[in-house]
Amino acid sequence: MASNSTATVDGSALAGRALAAAGVRHMFGVVGIPVTSLASRAAAAGVRFLAFRNEQSAGYAAAAYGFLTDSPGLLLTVSGPGCVHGLAGLSHATANAWPLLMVSGSCAQADAGRGDFQELDQIAATKPFAKLAVKATTIADIPSLVFQALAAAVSGRPGGCYLDIPSDVLHQTLPESEAAAVIAAAAADSAASDPSPPKQKNLDEGIEKAVDLLRRAERPLVVIGKGAAYARAEEAIRKLVDITGIPFLPTPMGKGVVPDAHPLSATAARSLAIRQCDVALVVGARLNWLLHFGEPPKWSKDVKFILVDVCEEEIELRKPHVGIVGDAKRVMELINREIKDNPFCLARSHPWVEAITKKAKDNVLKMEAQLVKDVVPFNFMTPLRIIRDAILAEGTPAPIVVSEGANTMDVGRAVLVQNEPRTRLDAGTWGTMGVGLGYCVAAAMAAPERLVVAVEGDSAFGFSAMEVETLVRYQLPVVVIVFNNNGVYGGDRRSPDEITGPYKYDPAPTSFVPAAGYHKMMEAFGGKGYLVETPDELKSALLESFRARKPSVINVIIDPYAGAESGRMQHKN
Ligand code: ADP
Repeated sequence: MASNSTATVDGSALAGRALAAAGVRHMFGVVGIPVTSLASRAAAAGVRFLAFRNEQSAGYAAAAYGFLTDSPGLLLTVSGPGCVHGLAGLSHATANAWPLLMVSGSCAQADAGRGDFQELDQIAATKPFAKLAVKATTIADIPSLVFQALAAAVSGRPGGCYLDIPSDVLHQTLPESEAAAVIAAAAADSAASDPSPPKQKNLDEGIEKAVDLLRRAERPLVVIGKGAAYARAEEAIRKLVDITGIPFLPTPMGKGVVPDAHPLSATAARSLAIRQCDVALVVGARLNWLLHFGEPPKWSKDVKFILVDVCEEEIELRKPHVGIVGDAKRVMELINREIKDNPFCLARSHPWVEAITKKAKDNVLKMEAQLVKDVVPFNFMTPLRIIRDAILAEGTPAPIVVSEGANTMDVGRAVLVQNEPRTRLDAGTWGTMGVGLGYCVAAAMAAPERLVVAVEGDSAFGFSAMEVETLVRYQLPVVVIVFNNNGVYGGDRRSPDEITGPYKYDPAPTSFVPAAGYHKMMEAFGGKGYLVETPDELKSALLESFRARKPSVINVIIDPYAGAESGRMQHKN
């Protein structure tokens, strides 16, 4: 047996130990040449490895994990094609401003450029989507690059980073004592280096101006983005809303930062709120397509924006009336403190508050009138109401809702209720489809106390449906509800002049096999499957699966003509 003095550590084990030493607790990925050992070594060092069936889903898992835990989600891929599949998660994380570190093995350095197995210039491939893309050229580089890339992923605007470890580096060895020393040195360097606290330019001046604007506003609004959810600013924002009586509007993943059930929620009066507000305090949300670029006709041309964002470039881009660069939680605490010295509050009878609450109430009543009907064959509303009620009946801690699809996500956003922060995960800034099952695994790891409920369009589900096997393998408390309307947007919507030519008898580009047995996919792996077509069947499937907290797929048959083409995005199609 080798004595301790001769024991060695290879690059795979060193990477696994460095990740563990840096605080990584979960890693998502697909193994194969040359990273299989890295996954096992990392697991042995305390980093749980969640093995997926496709890197794309693993990448979406890592991205969502970054959002839910405010620490980078780890994605492990093989070289070449595995790295290319991983780009989906890397780019999705960066697009959503979520921290992620993608680690890929790559071909041996000596064989690069000679057509090696799965050879790719992975630094060049990942660079456009990464805040930092670095390669370990020798084993001793690994720990410091792990720490550096993890820090870069969370600094400033969070995003994806990439670490390349060539196969020869994974196979190099170091004596045990040296391995421990390089990890300790990397940890010490990282602890000593400036953790680059978010820039806070002219903070006091910005806070004063912001509070002054809010105080003098006739129709103020607080807009809550997923950056505020990521920053864990919920307490501070809730306090601001409660103290000032200003109505608030969350973006889709900002939902729950202040409970949807709060009386000052402007969600159901969204159009009125953004068209008429004169001052909008936007916290951790970009004025991009999701917020109509902050421009008329959706917004008033005279609206004054106060933008709070950790990213200075974002503020320079949007040129708000007041821009505050800083962490959302910290900035909101300072705003509250500034208000405390000279408080103000809009009464519930204030004309603006009254206009919003009345409009919201009217719209809720209109929607409820639709929701109470039991429409069979199912439209989108009836099953969503039943799902909403089942989720609400779970109480606290609320389930994490994963939502994707066209109509399923659009209608679901209005119907499903978020009363706790970071309990909604959806297609996000890019409108990415196929994120759902990866998100489910991430949610189960990040919040093991919560049930995970995915409400998926059949098209969205199909992108990553094979990951139901992953749910079963790890026995995760995930209930996947598939809205099965036979295709993308549902039934064939082509106009007669589109159904001509030599392939006119082919299925429509939007069509799938009708009444597909998605629930049987789950049963094939030993999970529980349900096929439901009526309210009673759906209620009983939800009751049983929520209680069991075991992997389940509920295949809900929806009228193929119930939804709209492109959901609510027809204007972009
Ligand atoms: P949404 O989709 O909810 O509108 P976006 O993804 O467009 O949100 O915007 C999120 C914003 O939050 C990004 O501009 C990002 O820079 C910012 N952000 C990220 N972390 C923080 C933080 N800790 N404090 C403030 N802003 C943050």
